[in-house]
Amino acid sequence: MIYRRLGKTDLMVSAIGFGGIPIQRISREEASNVMKRASELGINYIDTARGYGVSEEYIGEALKGSRDKWIIATKSMSRTKELMQKDIETSLKNLQTDYIDLYQIHNPKDESVLNEVINEGGALEALLEAKSQGKIRHIGVTIHSIGTLKVAVEKGVFETIMFPYSLVETQAEEVFKRARELDLGIIAMKPMAGGVITDASLAMRYILQNGDVTIAIPGMRDIKEVEQNALAASDFKPLSKEELEKCREIANSLGETFCRRCGYCGPCTKGLDIPMNFTLKLYHDNYDLQDWALERYKALQFHAEDCIECGKCELKCPYDLPIRDMLKEVKKTFKF
Ligand code: SF4
Ligand code: SF4
Repeated sequence: MIYRRLGKTDLMVSAIGFGGIPIQRISREEASNVMKRASELGINYIDTARGYGVSEEYIGEALKGSRDKWIIATKSMSRTKELMQKDIETSLKNLQTDYIDLYQIHNPKDESVLNEVINEGGALEALLEAKSQGKIRHIGVTIHSIGTLKVAVEKGVFETIMFPYSLVETQAEEVFKRARELDLGIIAMKPMAGGVITDASLAMRYILQNGDVTIAIPGMRDIKEVEQNALAASDFKPLSKEELEKCREIANSLGETFCRRCGYCGPCTKGLDIPMNFTLKLYHDNYDLQDWALERYKALQFHAEDCIECGKCELKCPYDLPIRDMLKEVKKTFKF
């Protein structure tokens, strides 16, 4: 296994980490077995969230007796100090530990939310307090939009950033360079592009060969997936010319159907978070997380059905996606 320093946190993490979203759809026992195998193969980083159903809880149980072998990262959507304080306590209880290695602000969607979190009375205050008390060790942020990412990198308050990155979602590569200059740890989420890439070896090695990125965290739900993903970092070989060509072919084949979450289509006339609507549909269709995706969808302020089909977003999408038609599919998927 390759180990890398996670930016200024100085944590030495395995280059492949364990994405904990799928834990919520397997049993406690299966979660424990899958994590045990991951640990045997050298994986020492696990990512979860307050919002991933029973994921924190199952991970907490699986970690009994082996807490010191793992670097635990979790996150919360809380935006105020008071709510974040409660979430930190809940995470500590669920994870059955007295410290969490990395606590992240989960997906501030734009600069105004980011400022709400950072300003007086915001969630960051609770994280800084918890850090001074030893309850958490480091503070990071997870982001989906490139515009918010650029702002967050320069804020000077985060030690790590998590952002979607894969062979079909490369929009953040320049920002990653800047983040690396600032010694931020860079965590690649959605390395299989939400399930649309099926070749784990290509997907992981594409990310591993970008020296700006510290760690990729594919979601894993069984031992076969753990072994496939771990192999990419235990027996790492750079991609050959032919394999790089295959990556380009995969990216091209997704051309007119796949949202790269670049955010250039915004702002939407009706306030929709367009890429998040598509992301939740991916979770629904490819991750076997129907109920969870529906709950997340319901929690959005605006939904696909609010689209008035003005078409302004399509003029700005660099991939010429038929956003209005795609939103109709989202609407069909999430009926409530
Ligand atoms: S077409 Fe729909 S999604 Fe696009 S900007 Fe108009 S209202 Fe928003
Ligand atoms: S719809 Fe197009 S512009 Fe909007 S986030 Fe997706 S790929 Fe980017």
